[in-house]
Formats: sequence, C-alpha cells, structure tokens
Amino acid sequence: MSEETTQSAPMKIAVFGTRKYDQDSLKAANDAAGNPLEFTFIEALLDPMTTILAAGHIGVCLFVNDICDSAVLEHLHSLGVRFIALRCAGFNNVDLKAAARLGIKVARVPSYSPEAVAEFCVGMIMTVVRKYHKAYNRVREGNFLLDGLLGFNLHGKTIGIIGTGKIGLLTGRILSRGFNANVIAYDPYPNRAAAEEYGIEYVEKLDDLLGTSDIISLHCPLMESTSYIISDSTIPKMKKGVVLINTSRGGLIDTYALIRGLKSGHIAAVGLDVYERESSYFFADSSSKVIDDDTFARLLSFYNVFMTGHQAFLTTEALTNIADTTVLNLVDLQATGTCACILEASA
Ligand code: NAD
Repeated sequence: MSEETTQSAPMKIAVFGTRKYDQDSLKAANDAAGNPLEFTFIEALLDPMTTILAAGHIGVCLFVNDICDSAVLEHLHSLGVRFIALRCAGFNNVDLKAAARLGIKVARVPSYSPEAVAEFCVGMIMTVVRKYHKAYNRVREGNFLLDGLLGFNLHGKTIGIIGTGKIGLLTGRILSRGFNANVIAYDPYPNRAAAEEYGIEYVEKLDDLLGTSDIISLHCPLMESTSYIISDSTIPKMKKGVVLINTSRGGLIDTYALIRGLKSGHIAAVGLDVYERESSYFFADSSSKVIDDDTFARLLSFYNVFMTGHQAFLTTEALTNIADTTVLNLVDLQATGTCACILEASA
C-alpha cells in the first residue's frame, strides 16, 4: 500500500469564536505538525443556537466565552462530536460531568504563557495607580496639566495576591523583586517553596489579606467556591482606598457590590480585564451597538475604572503555545483516547 493510502484523513475540527490571530496561529501549528487537522473557522461563539455548526466535525475547539453546558454537550454528542479542545486554561464554561457522562473527552491548555498575564497585570496596576490612560488622552489633546494624575509608589506598599498558581506567583515575583513591594498572598493550597523564592509571604486567612492590602489582585480560577469572592461581605473588610485588579475571571466579582464600593469611595480604583457578563461584548466590535447591560455601562462610566477586553493573554508567545498544545491535544486524543492536558470531571 502506498504511503498516501495509509495516511488517515485529517480530523475535522470546528473552531468557534475565532479571530484572525487565532486562525493564523492554529494554521501555523497544524502545518508544523503535518496537517493532522482540518479546521472550520467559525466567528460565532458556541451556544445553543450555533451548536449545529459543529455537524460533520469530530471535535470542537473553544475559548473562554463559548457556552458548553449539558444541553449544548448533548447536542454536540448527537452531531458526532467526541473531542473538545479548549484554547484556554480556565474551564468553568464546560460542564465536565455532562461531558464525562456522554463520553466526550475535554482537554485544555493549562499553561500557555503565565508571563503574558502576569506582565499585563502589573501593567494594569501601573496604569490604574499612575493613570497612564488619562495622561495619554490628555497629552494627545495638548493638555499638559498634571492635576488629577497624582499616583503613589508601589515600593513599600502591601499588595495582596489571591490565588498563587502560575500567574499569581509570577505577578507576585515581579512586584516583590521588581518594585520591592510587600507582597502577601492567600491560597488554600499554598506553594510555599516558590513563594519564598519569589519574596511572597502567605497569610493564613483571606480576611488577613483583605484587611492589610493597598492593592488586591485576583488570580484564582472561577469555581463555585470562588464565585463572587469579592462581594458586599468582603469589600467592607478591605482597607479604605484599596485598588482592585482582576485579570482572572469576571465572575469572581459581584459587579453590583463593586459599584457600591466605588460609589462610597471605599474602593479607590479598579483595573479589570474581565467582566462577569463579558460574553455579550468582548472579542467583538461593539462600538456601534448600544450597551444594554446597564451594570456594565455604569462600570465603564467611572473615572477610576480602567477596563480592557480580556486581553491579558494576547501575546505572540501565548498564541503559539496555545495553538501547538491544542493541535497536540487533539491528535493525542484521537490516537490514544487521552492526552497530557485532559480534564477529568472531578478536576
Ligand atoms: P492555576 O490553576 O495555576 O492557579 C490557580 C490558583 O488559585 C491555585 O493555586 C489554587 O489553589 C488557587 N485557588 C483556588 N481556590 C482559591 C481560593 N478560594 N482562594 C485563593 N486561591 C484559590 O491558574 P493560573 O494559570 O495561575 O490562572 C489563574 C486564572 O487566570 C485562571 O483560572 C484564569 O481564569 C485566569 N486567566 C486569565 C487570562 C486573561 O487573559 N485575562 C489568561 C489566562 C488565565
């Protein structure tokens, strides 16, 4: 038999929620691997209405805002989908129990570039604290006044990191080693060796971190236990004038409580790369759309809220790693039924 005839057909993968940068990196990774996959690039997010677009594909490839609940999974399964490759680390949008029940294998990219997010997070802290965003607009309009641009030094400040996984630890390291800030952290599963090496000190209770931090940065995943970890019950425990940063997941913050905290002045400034209902707006040009989420609109209206559209991961290095791991995950899943980055229902 010729080599041509023994080669198996490429796996058909429906890639939801794609932008050009996703397509370019996935195509490059697939080329480098000898084109084991055949992609259908779909701009729409996966949701109950768009699931049908997966017909004829053995796998789907998803990102953070695709909806993959049990109803969508049932439909995907009936269409013949057997593999889900997440192009991200977080998996709060996939019902893993339902996937396991249906025999659909789910894999993710656990670590594509924690540096990308950590570096962005530190940039966000600097932006919020030193008001780069306001200065940029002002100077472009020929206004060189410094009034209203007063910041404070990070040196010597207490910065609290909630969640010391890959990203939280790196963020803490930059702030401790680079700025000589007093970096403290809370994590129910501490990594004491790395924290010590990076100059990060654990506190025993979340309340200890909330009560002593000048800046609080969120780096835990969104799970039942962390949903609304920032709420009406935790904000009053923070120092008055605290700066809050969230580059993790929007659902960690109860936005109504955040708005109350901003209105009362308890929270001095906020940097957000994520929002709890971001999927209606993010990763799309919504500039000629009326924002019909009044909470989101209110949040955007604060002079002391700086927001980006889930951009922290977006570096060349991260996209390359995401694409390489995604291609490998899918190839391994089909060949062996498992892969190094498989997600189990209990995860
Ligand atoms: P990770 O799994 O390495 O670390 C998460 C850490 O959170 C773990 O150490 C865990 O023990 C800890 N944790 C769990 N429950 C906690 C709790 N109740 N309180 C405090 N800590 C708790 O994850 P990571 O790679 O560091 O990523 C962190 C999060 O960043 C991801 O879950 C994802 O949501 C987010 N993220 C955002 C972007 C972006 O572009 N904005 C990109 C990548 C990841």
